[in-house]
Order: sequence, then structure tokens, then C-alpha cells
Amino acid sequence: MQRIKGIAVSPGIIVGRAFLVGSAEQVVPHRTIDASEVAAQHARLHEALAAAGREIAELSERTRRELGEEPAKIFQFHAGLLRDKALVAATERRVSEGLVTAEQAVADQFRVLVDQFKRMGNEVFEQKANDVIDLERRVLGHLMGAQESRLAQLDAPAVVVAHELTPSQAAAMDRSKVIAIVTDLGGRTGHTSIVARALGLPSVVGCQRLSAEVEDGDELIVDGNDGMVIVRPDARTLEEYRRKQERSLRSRAALRELSGLEAVTKDGVRIQLMGNIEFPEEIEAVLANGGDGVGLYRTEFLWLTRKEPPTEQDHLDAYLRAIRLLKGKPLTIRTCDLGADKYTQEQMEEPERNPFLGLRSIRHSLANPAEFKGQLRAILRASAHGPVKTMFPLVSNPMELRQGKLMLADISEELEDEGIPFDRQMPVGVMIEVPSAALMSRVFAAESNFFSIGTNDLIQYTLAVDRGNERVAHLYQAAHPAVVYLVKSVVRAARSGNIDCSVCGEMAGEPLFSMLLLGMGLRTLSMVPDQIPVIKRVIRSVTMEHCERLARRVGSFDSERQVETALRDELRKLDPDVFGHWVAE
Ligand code: PEP
Ligand code: MG
Repeated sequence: MQRIKGIAVSPGIIVGRAFLVGSAEQVVPHRTIDASEVAAQHARLHEALAAAGREIAELSERTRRELGEEPAKIFQFHAGLLRDKALVAATERRVSEGLVTAEQAVADQFRVLVDQFKRMGNEVFEQKANDVIDLERRVLGHLMGAQESRLAQLDAPAVVVAHELTPSQAAAMDRSKVIAIVTDLGGRTGHTSIVARALGLPSVVGCQRLSAEVEDGDELIVDGNDGMVIVRPDARTLEEYRRKQERSLRSRAALRELSGLEAVTKDGVRIQLMGNIEFPEEIEAVLANGGDGVGLYRTEFLWLTRKEPPTEQDHLDAYLRAIRLLKGKPLTIRTCDLGADKYTQEQMEEPERNPFLGLRSIRHSLANPAEFKGQLRAILRASAHGPVKTMFPLVSNPMELRQGKLMLADISEELEDEGIPFDRQMPVGVMIEVPSAALMSRVFAAESNFFSIGTNDLIQYTLAVDRGNERVAHLYQAAHPAVVYLVKSVVRAARSGNIDCSVCGEMAGEPLFSMLLLGMGLRTLSMVPDQIPVIKRVIRSVTMEHCERLARRVGSFDSERQVETALRDELRKLDPDVFGHWVAE
């Protein structure tokens, strides 16, 4: 038995069997196979080698066309290696004699070759070692790609274990079979974590080397409340966790009973609680949890689940489906937020060096006007069918807002000419998730209809802490006074500009911050649907005067420790039984 501590990102406790998923850039999960699987693994190996060969041929041809014969020659070595009978035979032997998967055999055999070249100790061979590594990644990419479809066709309930899971892998999972997600990398607000929460799957990330310790089929306890994974638990531990699991289910069921009640403070202030969704199907969970509508629809997931960019019709179909499911409740559609962790950089011809500061979100949309136009047309067309708002992500400069609005104005004229109905008053908002936008929020308030504060990115960019990096997860602090200060100034700017302001980052769904957010003046919070009941529980237990007093006190603190301690104390006082879990340090 082994206990591995990680970061709790999605609550719930589950016991299940491990299912390892790899990624080309990362550690290959170790999985031994049965002798009966050897032929199938050999076939996978040959398919991957052939696919890599086809890619190399294309790449070589393109390089020859664009750069000439000489540079194209570098691919001769790659192609030659793929045809090298000795290398292929040795890799096959690793499968048949070592009884390991094709990916393990490739990783091991190519590594031997890399070491051989490196030992030769001159620059030419050093370069060859790099070529082998490059080729290994390419072949593994094909093998792991095949794993993605394996992931889509799981035949029994399983805990997905991965070094790292891309959002598209997470989105492609067969959701009726995956019962929990555990990864080596990642932080609380990374996109895999958001998907896990959206799917209501217990999840722990940042488990360091867990995927190397676990074998396919191992029994695991995943404790998404405390961020603990127990590998091959003994009978006593299993029993202990079964009891914990029952308690956790009971308390969530009790909170769900609040879904029919209003989110109103003791002194009568009504708070709008909205759901964040990635797929229209999640609206069911928003409504079941008593949500007032959708405050954030992350439409980029339409891109991540298909190979080609979605067409205008694909967008429109998804939005109309969401509108139908919402039955008159509002829908806030965020335009595509591709890039950074929501874009497989491998799809780009040249991956960006610093994708989080690169061509992402609104910048990506403005750089791809044809695709962007298709989405904006679909949003406007959908607005004729229900209360739709739209907002632009990661705006850092008023010019981006103006360009986006200009495109909407042009499309409106087009639709008018075509006689297609749309809402001429559709509200257009800005996500405030970059410090420059927060600091200039007065300017943005004068030119937009609403703000939605994306604290996930706002924290990351304010504190210069990667939201998905477990090594700096301890520095990712929503309670940092700089974050509190920025949120407060954005709310003030919205108020003086007389526009609505909400929070749709994960902070909105954390009970620890509810009183502070209310006290700072927020009246709309948008979160993972499952969190709605617990936030409602906080709201129904407080008065606005209490929240405002707390916000004033917290606003004077100069360390996150002070902020957190004060918030914990207040939450604990409300009801230690209900909120005990959220105030645990
Ligand atoms: C945010 O950054 O807080 C946000 C809501 O957007 P996302 O998590 O999709 O980046
Ligand atoms: Mg964001």
C-alpha cells in the first residue's frame, strides 16, 4: 500500500481500478501484458511506425519544396531508422520477451540508441541522438493517440491515471466509464481539473510520480476531498474509506436539498448563482443544482472534441441546444478561448515558446477572422431564440474589445441584409482576467455591457504563477492581497460605470471566498454546477452587513495568510459540520 498526496481538485471519494493513459511528451506508463496480447502489440507497433513513416515523407517533401534539397536530407536519417530491420526486430523482441506494451518497447529501445549516440561524444552524433528522440516522440505520439481512442471506449468503470491529461483527452473520455481522474502534473485551476469538476468526477492532480508507481488494473482509492491517492490499499484502509465515502455522499445529498430554495442572504439580498459549462449537456446539472442560468459557456471545447474547426452551423446547433435546455434562463457564451493549455501546441507548425503569453483567447480569434466570424454569426443568430450574452476572454487592451465589437456590428448588418433575426441589444461583455484589464476597468466599463472576472487567469497573471504547475501550486493564492485588491477595484469600476459584474473563476465556487465576494459587492457568481448548493448554503447563513464588514477588514490585510485565516474563521463559525471540510488547512 502506498499513500500519495496531491492537490484536491474535484470532491468525492471513489475506489476503483487504474487505467493508465500516456502522452507522447511524457512518461510512458508501465504496463505488462499477457502473452496472448503480443501479436496485437506487434500490430500496433507496425501501424505506428508506418504512420510515422508517412508523416516523415510528407515533412521531407514539404521541406524540399519550401527550403530545397539539402535541408530535406535531414529526414533521410529518420526514414532510414524507421526502415532499420534490426531496430524494428529488437523492439518487437522487447514486446514478446519482456511482455510489455508497444509504447514501453519503443521507449526502451529508442533510449538504448540515444545512449549509444551520446556516448560517441561528438557533435554529429549528439545531433543524431536528438533525431532519435524526435522520432521516438513521433512514434509514441501515434501509439498514445491510439490510447486516446482506447480511452473513449473503456469497457469497465476505471480511474484514469495519467502523467498529464490534455483537455482534449479529458473531453474525449467515455464519461459513463471514467469514475475518477488522477494525474502527476497539474494545478487546481488547470483545464483538466475544470473538466473533472464539470463531470463531477473525484480528482486529484499534482501527484508527482504516481503514474510511474501504478500499474494498469491496480486498486486505487481516490480521495478528491483531501487530495490523497492510495495505491493498492489494505483491507483496513479500504474499510475506513468506505465509511468516509458514505459520509461524504450523505453531506452532498443534504446540500442538494437546498436546490429548490433561493440564494438569498438572511437580510434579503438575492444572489444569482450561475453554472459554468463546457458542453450543453451540463445544463442538466446546472438546473438540478438550482442554478439561475449559465454564466460561462466555454465554447472552445467545441474545437477540442473535433479535428476540424467547428462551422457556423456546428456552433449554432450547440447554442440552440443550450438555449432549449435552459428554458428561458440566461446563457453567457464566451467566445473561443483557444491557446495556452487549451490548444494542443503540437497542432501548430511551430509551437510557441511561451503559450500562456502567446496567441491565445481573443488574440487567437482576431488572428483567425474567418473562424471568429463563424462563431460570432452563430452567437448572434442564437440570440434570437433566448436570452444570450457574449463575452470576450483574456482581453488585455481596449483595442481588442473594439475590434470584437466592430466585427459584431458588421455581422449584424450582414444578418439584417439577409433577413436573419437576432437580438440587436445582445449584451457584450469583457472577461477581466489580465491585470492590465483590471487596472483599466473604468475604460472597459464605458465600452461594454458587463464584466465577468476570470480569477483563474487573473491570479496566474497577477502573481506570475502558472495555474497548472504543481511545483508552484503553493504560490497560487486566491487570497493574495493583490488579487483581492484587483477584484475590488473591478467591482467598483463596474458599479461606477453602472454595468453588471460577476465572477466566473473557480474562486466563485469556493465557500471560503463567498462572504468576501459578497462583501465586495458581487451579486452574481458563476461556478461548477456541483458547487452551487454549498455556496447557496453560505449565502443563506449570512447577512450582507456581516459580509461587508469582513470585506473591509480583509481589504486592510497585507498577507494571504491573514486573509485566509480570517475567511476560515468566519466560515467555520457559520457551521463547523457543513464547512469543516472547506476550512481544513
Ligand atoms: C478564468 O480564467 O477564471 C476563467 C473563468 O476562464 P478559464 O478558466 O476558462 O481560463
Ligand atoms: Mg481564463
